[in-house]
Amino acid sequence: MTVKRASLLVKRILREHRLCKHCLVRQLPNASVGISSRQCDICGGMFSKLDELTHKITMYVQGYEFESFLIGATVPASVIENEDHIRARFKLRGGESLKTALTSQLGKTLQQTLGKRVNYRDPDLVIIISPYTQDVELNPKSIYVSGRYVKRRRGLSQKRVRCKTCNGQGCEECNHTGYTTGGSVEEVLSKHLLQYFIGSNAKFTWIGSEDSNSLVKGKGRPFYAEILSPKIRHFDGTPSSWYRGDVAMIQVELMKGRPIANQTFDMKIKANTIFEKDVSKELARTIEDAFKDRIVEMDALNKPKVLRKRVRDLSFKRIGEKRAALVFESDGGLNVRRFVTGESHTTPSISSVSDCQVSLDEDKPFDVLGVSIRE
Ligand SMILES: [Zn+2]
Ligand SMILES: [Zn+2]
Repeated sequence: MTVKRASLLVKRILREHRLCKHCLVRQLPNASVGISSRQCDICGGMFSKLDELTHKITMYVQGYEFESFLIGATVPASVIENEDHIRARFKLRGGESLKTALTSQLGKTLQQTLGKRVNYRDPDLVIIISPYTQDVELNPKSIYVSGRYVKRRRGLSQKRVRCKTCNGQGCEECNHTGYTTGGSVEEVLSKHLLQYFIGSNAKFTWIGSEDSNSLVKGKGRPFYAEILSPKIRHFDGTPSSWYRGDVAMIQVELMKGRPIANQTFDMKIKANTIFEKDVSKELARTIEDAFKDRIVEMDALNKPKVLRKRVRDLSFKRIGEKRAALVFESDGGLNVRRFVTGESHTTPSISSVSDCQVSLDEDKPFDVLGVSIRE
């Protein structure tokens, strides 16, 4: 378009519409007419109020750690329709939309005032603004941590148990948490992590599971946690308070991204078993020989599938007439209870090899002595 035609077009548009400089230049980048209007037919004067919004955002992001950000905007449909209408009426094409202009202008200003950079692909913080209501919403990207936990007291479940009264909705009984307040490993780990990173929620990926009456010893069980909406994104090392108590969190590290799904692992277990008959030396040897290195088959839970898990290096220690502690290594995911009792078509099992019913001591069924992720 020639300069002359452009300036004629500008005159025609302005005869029918009040447009601010921002909204005019967006349609015709070469328009040299400078109009300051607080009553623009497209933006309604919104562009002249951006300083206020910038100030508000600057206040809101205080206390959030981030290196990069992205601005998103929600603009009323009527504003977009006004712009589309004027564009169609004067056959204007290719100009930037109001939303794009708004977010890129705010982005530029905030890069300066905050000293952070705009990142379109993977920002630490997404700032959603509604310029017409001056609402600001902050969405920090999740962070992921890896760690291990040791459990020193029996009677704590691994996962939080959903409140039965409200089915997770939150009620008086569960203190509006949606979970029973009896205590769990998840509850303790969540509390520490959310306090440190000031996040809204923590989602766990467990490497295996144990009974609520099990202890987890040694170097503990590995886990991953996603911290949602964290204000803090750095980690200076595990606070000493995390080591103390019934559930200790150790070797916590910040991860670069999401953990790998379904990792395979090995575990070392001590099962406290009760036999229906007296345990003899012969029986001890028979069981140790049977599980030097043996594949155990069992039905999968809720699936028509057979799982195959290797059991290795079982050692039998008699601790009473009918009691024995069995220490062994196995593939991750072996169901210890079924391996002992033979439930769910588990074969061979301690029961089947002993030729009598064997069960777990329910007060202290089995302890986890070690869990290692296979590289
Ligand atoms: Zn305007
Ligand atoms: Zn409840």
